[in-house]
Amino acid sequence: MKLDRLRQSFKELGAFTDKGEGINRLAYTETERRARQHMIRQFEQIGMTVRTDYAGNVIARRDGKQDELPVVATGSHIDSVYAAGEFDGTAGVLAALEVMRSLQEEGIETRHPIEVIIFACEESARFGASTLGSKAMSGRLDPAYTRSLTDKNGVTLMQAFEDNGLNLEEVHLAMRFQDEFKAFVELHIEQGPVLEKQGTAVGVVSAIAAPARYHVHVGGTADHSGTTPMDYRHDALLGGAEIALAVEQAALAELEYGTVGTVGVFSIQPGAMNVVPSAAELDVDIRGTDTESRQRVVTALEQAVSRIAEARGLDIWMDEISSEEPVQMDEDLVEELKAVCEERGITWLEMASGAGHDTMNMARFCPACMIFVPSKDGLSHNPAEYTSMEQLLTGAEVLRDLLLKQAVVC
Ligand SMILES: [Zn+2]
Repeated sequence: MKLDRLRQSFKELGAFTDKGEGINRLAYTETERRARQHMIRQFEQIGMTVRTDYAGNVIARRDGKQDELPVVATGSHIDSVYAAGEFDGTAGVLAALEVMRSLQEEGIETRHPIEVIIFACEESARFGASTLGSKAMSGRLDPAYTRSLTDKNGVTLMQAFEDNGLNLEEVHLAMRFQDEFKAFVELHIEQGPVLEKQGTAVGVVSAIAAPARYHVHVGGTADHSGTTPMDYRHDALLGGAEIALAVEQAALAELEYGTVGTVGVFSIQPGAMNVVPSAAELDVDIRGTDTESRQRVVTALEQAVSRIAEARGLDIWMDEISSEEPVQMDEDLVEELKAVCEERGITWLEMASGAGHDTMNMARFCPACMIFVPSKDGLSHNPAEYTSMEQLLTGAEVLRDLLLKQAVVC
């Protein structure tokens, strides 16, 4: 594999961006469509057969000697958030392209076919819904839900599909079947600081954390800030603040399990300097890969809610926004990844992914795993996102070895 060629691939794909700071290549936009066309040409140039499915996923296939055997697949995404960096998603796609180019050059043949998949709409930035392409492929897309999606300019997902020559009514046809796949592996930047801090080359992902999300409404009483004595108040902000601290405390107690809790939204009513707050709205995100640990934090939140409501005379209720199950990676593939790293003398660390990825959906219907490469300062969804070409190439070597082991060189 070639470092300069990999660098050139990033340069070429990076040119497909809308105006603004960093990369702006939002899902199903004209710019992203042109980027996909560019990628299709790259795969076709090395003799791969490329098709776009009913969800807009690009599937580049390299035939196997026994082409009827299940596919060994890899892939990631090239859509981005607003003001994104250059590596989120693209790292996995361009590393896979470099692997495929090297196989082509070296005339390596495999028994199983290999596919590189560019998943459509991984980021929720445009339509508020993430991993649409892999959800469609794994049969997990709710049609009624997709019909309700709109971007901030009022463009419906239905319209965006049409702009791409797709029909949202046919998106279910993107679904594939378990027995079509032997394995799926995604290379991705870590988007966190651990690998860089530890000086480790590769993260072997053992599980992907999933969030349990809650909306908490705190109802108090609006009172005059000058005339209401302190012991007569039902201050909604203070109740909400105690809840936020309770989330932190409960998650800190689960540090060894890697469970995290965040109050990312906190607003108060009426929001006037001379009025005791009458209402507070909090959105709570609790994530982990250990379901029981995550549940303990949720339980602590529920207990805090009733304790604080009682103590402060507030009316507090919480609604579950969503609760997804954490996803475990395939144990055999995880072991194989470690073995590949050992063979090459590449340092590795078994770790969980705190962020969601297309692999979550693929893992629900075929054995799947992920390879992480370091992110400078842990930055992601940021123009300063950075992984060196050397670090990427090391990840690509691990990816290549795993693909070849799974697809069986002949
Ligand atoms: Zn990503």
